Amino acid sequence: MTKPIFTFDVHLDLSMNALEWNRDLRWSLEMIRRQELSMKDKVDRGNNTVCFPEMRRGRVGLCVATQIGRYSPYFHRLPGWNSPEQAWAQTQGQLAWYRAMEEVGELIQIRNRKELDRHLDLWHASPQDDGSDYVRDSRKFVRQAKNGTGNTTPVLPIGYILSLEGADSIVSLKHLERSYADGLRALGPAHYGPGRYAHGTDASGPLPAAGKELIKEMQRLGIILDVTHLCDECFWDALDIYDGPLWASHQNCRTLAPWNRQFADDQIKAVIERGGILGMAFDAIMMVPGWKHLRSKPADFQLTLERIVDHVDHICQLAGNAKHVGIGTDLDGGYGTEQTPMDLDSIADLQKIPALLRKRGYSEADIEGIFWRNFVDFLRRVWE
Ligand SMILES: [Zn+2]
Repeated sequence: MTKPIFTFDVHLDLSMNALEWNRDLRWSLEMIRRQELSMKDKVDRGNNTVCFPEMRRGRVGLCVATQIGRYSPYFHRLPGWNSPEQAWAQTQGQLAWYRAMEEVGELIQIRNRKELDRHLDLWHASPQDDGSDYVRDSRKFVRQAKNGTGNTTPVLPIGYILSLEGADSIVSLKHLERSYADGLRALGPAHYGPGRYAHGTDASGPLPAAGKELIKEMQRLGIILDVTHLCDECFWDALDIYDGPLWASHQNCRTLAPWNRQFADDQIKAVIERGGILGMAFDAIMMVPGWKHLRSKPADFQLTLERIVDHVDHICQLAGNAKHVGIGTDLDGGYGTEQTPMDLDSIADLQKIPALLRKRGYSEADIEGIFWRNFVDFLRRVWE
């Protein structure tokens, strides 16, 4: 493997893992796996692929990290909180975890162009991680030098941009304003099923009046519209009333994996025409046709990272260039290695993808664009 490429992952449910899976993301992948060996409460126990040391090893120095709290109507089949206020409280707990990780120097929040540029300078000026172990030195985690000098260096903070997946927890538009003040910079109004503001995957129906108001308020505040998860009708309704910046943070192609969770070609083209970017997701169910949830295995499809390159390539062919695609892995988004390509054991394995892209004729500039620059340039334009 050649020198790892800086990576901007535009969709990670970090706080959900910390608080619902009880994972301390400062631990190594191994430590988390060992602790979960005998746990049976969730299907992906012990199959985790994301933690801070692995992000640093794979040079994932910047991410969009979610808050997520869903409301579920009375006796609905999807789990969720019984009130928007409870969902709001859930997201506030998640925010508190991000703040705690900032305090110990593991994360740094990115809210504007100046902070973005400063953060990129920091990572680009820093030597790549040598893979040595992290040890806890009083409050901060530090990297132990391999040369035996006993010198330690502080870890580089991972930049995160706060987003919200599903808007159910936004009790009122005042809460949206408060969230913006807390650094919320992107929001996807829908998740799975029906939502208070928009209908999502496997649901249907037009964009509700509340959703229209929400989207207009997002545009006023300058919050990026994440069109991922919107059902087809809500997708087109949203585009009709919104002309602010939009992206699809974790979104693959329906042509290659037929299911309403993925976008049809006309939707992908609409995102491209608006100057948007699609982040490639590494959930097997979004990569191949015919995956049966909780029954299929990656080996049944001989699923490898090569498949994500098919999705990348499909979008690039529709766009006529490589400027509208990036990385939005969704790794550990409620699933683990039981539902990822066989050659992905850690988020650091994203670094196997550049070689696959080179084989298909992508230039170094294209690859850099896909790994970080496309989404970064998007943010620079939006935050001008
Ligand atoms: Zn999602």
